[in-house]
Amino acid sequence: MMYDVAVVGAGPAGATLARLVGKDYRVLVIDRRPFAGDYADSPAKTKCCGGLLAPDAQQMLAELGMGVPKDILVGPQLFTVRTIDLQSRLERYYQRFYLNLDRERFDRWLVSLIPDRVDFLPEATFKGYSLDGGRCNLRFSQGGKEYSESVKVLIGADGANSRVRRLVFPDSAMPKKYIAIQEWFQIEQAMPYFTTIFDSEVTDFYSWTIPKEGCLLVGSALSLSKDAAERFETLKGKLGTLGIRLGKCVKREGAPILRPQRLGDIRVGRGSIALLGEAAGMISPSSAEGLSYAFKSSLHCAQSLLDGPEGFLERYDRAINPMRVNILLKNLKSPFMYNPRLRKAAMWSGLLSMEVYKAGV
Ligand SMILES: Cc1cc2nc3c(=O)[nH]c(=O)nc-3n(C[C@H](O)[C@H](O)[C@H](O)COP(=O)(O)OP(=O)(O)OC[C@H]3O[C@@H](n4cnc5c(N)ncnc54)[C@H](O)[C@@H]3O)c2cc1C
Repeated sequence: MMYDVAVVGAGPAGATLARLVGKDYRVLVIDRRPFAGDYADSPAKTKCCGGLLAPDAQQMLAELGMGVPKDILVGPQLFTVRTIDLQSRLERYYQRFYLNLDRERFDRWLVSLIPDRVDFLPEATFKGYSLDGGRCNLRFSQGGKEYSESVKVLIGADGANSRVRRLVFPDSAMPKKYIAIQEWFQIEQAMPYFTTIFDSEVTDFYSWTIPKEGCLLVGSALSLSKDAAERFETLKGKLGTLGIRLGKCVKREGAPILRPQRLGDIRVGRGSIALLGEAAGMISPSSAEGLSYAFKSSLHCAQSLLDGPEGFLERYDRAINPMRVNILLKNLKSPFMYNPRLRKAAMWSGLLSMEVYKAGV
């Protein structure tokens, strides 16, 4: 079987691209995750994520003609962001509409939409590639065996730690990388907020709590250093002072998360190899929202491919210019969230915030 397109990674970006081009091209998708069976407690097999579908991602699903099946949603649905600045002791509430998802079920649903004629290989790990004339030889392993496939186009949709990206651009730095640590705690009463916590003692990015079906997720995007785990403990220690009581910890997980800051952090690929989603460096540098960028980049790449493989990368490169501008604008907005003085002024002003009456809570 000679494939036209091979996709490494069946997360939101890769699964969406395979769905969109799978009827027109012979497509192979590989992912190291199983996407089947019961392994809720195995962090290595699931994507560590807050599982919030933000308004931009909801809009992307609308543009893709999709709605979310109800069995992917988990309670409570969230309409409020509670923002806490631990340095200035300021607290504000903002209205914002999220869909609260089970991320593993969401990813499996996206994979289930890939057309049957696409060959999908779960538990298959990308190893490398070599170029041979106009084709690309993809190497991967599955079940202890090594395989190779010759393809016209290789797509790297393998997330923040993209091996495809590192091999295509061996000499260029990755965008600034954080390590996200997230723990799931049993709780009796869910607070119906997505809480964002700013504290420079913990991180120069942000920490969060998200209620999810009987649990409270506590997470933080921490700069890469030896004391990251210690700073996460500091965060947990401070939650009690905010009235957040944690029960038994039932899951601990972690994942890298990118924070693109320069135009050069966004890479669409080279030659017959394209990068999508977080592998391309596309994620919000201000909120770490990544699902809308995964969907949007895969839509642009699919449209470019459907016009023919010849010159598709140049078309894709041009199509994502508005995404580049969007990421630059988010970087301009960042100081109002991450510079302690500007954040204090913004929160103190109360601009765009709302009152929340907590009767009975
Ligand atoms: C802790 C945390 C919380 C987050 N919360 C949110 C949130 O609430 N809302 C939001 O919008 N965004 C959130 N994000 C960001 C979001 O999860 C990502 O930006 C998004 O998943 C990117 O999609 P993707 O398809 O590009 O990559 P991924 O979803 O990372 O998918 C990459 C896929 O590639 C596979 N893969 C990787 N390497 C290989 C290999 N060598 N061989 C085979 N397969 C491979 C992986 O198994 C995975 O399935 C969060 C991120 C983190 C870390």
